[in-house]
Amino acid sequence: MPIGCPECDATITAAVPPGPGLVADREPTRLRGTETACRNCGHELELYFY
Ligand SMILES: [Zn+2]
Repeated sequence: MPIGCPECDATITAAVPPGPGLVADREPTRLRGTETACRNCGHELELYFY
């Protein structure tokens, strides 16, 4: 899923796992997160998704 880097506005394509149900752990309301880095400026982003 494409996101914008807050530092340089470059578009970063982040690998986000498919929708709910794939990861069956803990509370269903728990936010899952992933980390990625901007390939343009190296800014690290932490992404959370439902
Ligand atoms: Zn950037």
